[in-house]
Amino acid sequence: MNEVILIRFNEIHLKGGNRKYFTKLLLNNIKEAVAGLSCKVEDIQNRLLIREYENADEIIEKLKGVFGVHSISKAVELDNDPKIIKNYVSRIKLEGSFKCSVNRADKTFSIKSNDFAADLGEVVLNKNKTATVDIHNPKTTINVDIRETGKTYIFTELVYAYSGLPLGENRDGLLLLSGGIDSPVAGFCMAKRGLRQDILHFDSFPYTSTQAKEKVITLARKIKHFIGAKYMYVCSMTKLQEEFHIHCNSEYAINLLRRSMIRVANAICKKYKYKTIVTGESLGQVASQTIESLTSTNAVAEYPVMRPLISFNKDEIISLAKEIGTFETSILPYEDCCTVFLPRNPIIKPKIANSVKEESKIDLQSLLNYVIENIEIITL
Ligand code: ATP
Ligand code: MG
Repeated sequence: MNEVILIRFNEIHLKGGNRKYFTKLLLNNIKEAVAGLSCKVEDIQNRLLIREYENADEIIEKLKGVFGVHSISKAVELDNDPKIIKNYVSRIKLEGSFKCSVNRADKTFSIKSNDFAADLGEVVLNKNKTATVDIHNPKTTINVDIRETGKTYIFTELVYAYSGLPLGENRDGLLLLSGGIDSPVAGFCMAKRGLRQDILHFDSFPYTSTQAKEKVITLARKIKHFIGAKYMYVCSMTKLQEEFHIHCNSEYAINLLRRSMIRVANAICKKYKYKTIVTGESLGQVASQTIESLTSTNAVAEYPVMRPLISFNKDEIISLAKEIGTFETSILPYEDCCTVFLPRNPIIKPKIANSVKEESKIDLQSLLNYVIENIEIITL
């Protein structure tokens, strides 16, 4: 009998011809997540398995953050032999209500699932005088997973992970990360659908402080294992913002800044081969997130802009931020480049023609070139 950690996945099962590819991806991502902890990871057909580990809880904690994992159980591994399984189950000590749940993937196993569950239930009742059967709402479920590999896994606990799809091999996404609550959550949500991302942050030094930048680096390092990030690009918007402030209609300041952010993101995508831009925008949250404002920023985007929080309420975003451990950092009171030179009345329904007119008042292209030539790249 071996003690193992059993890993189940769900959506990958739907992948038909691509299933092998996704399973391999998940296996590699799990190996990456547990690297440094002693253990062996195995593909056992429709399940993954970890054996020869020292600290199961430490490994389970890591697995919970791997997208594509549905649930995890500490289990024992036995041969697909009714006698051996019954013998093991007869030694389980329990009190109160229970049920036995059998999953028979090995169709050569001679006893049908329901019959075997009933047999095992008898065995438990005989050995535990205070135990009672409750099919609908048992205190304990003894799960017996009889696999086609010839091995059976028995477990009573399931730890749920986030499901979704495993992170892809390439870092295809560029996450625009501010110091706020929303953008780390946006990165997490896209990673749940398999999008591996690097990070782009804009500062406005010296109007924004070095502490503000440190805070964003801390946030980036907090989400890097979720989103698979390796690099963070930091761009200074100071010169651009000063020019907007001096020469352009102040109502358009945020709109012009956001269009410039997207243009810089375009250039980084082009140079480093990202395929999509991710932001933490949520419809109607602030003036720059109305349909008209989003239309105005989309108009300059050369890559699809993914906005996974578009339909989220603030309280929903906050509860996810707390769950993924970014909230406490996000609420540290440092300024963001969006909050410097803040106009009193930011335009709520910008017109693209007006944005273009305002942009023509400055030498936008050379200012953007300057920003792009002076990108700082931080290895996370
Ligand atoms: P957040 O909580 O993520 O800061 P927000 O509600 O403050 O969002 P905005 O400031 O309008 O909203 O920003 C909307 C989105 O634009 C952010 O979620 C982020 O993706 C991007 N963004 C804003 N400021 C920056 C920045 N300084 N660097 C990089 N991206 C930014
Ligand atoms: Mg912000």
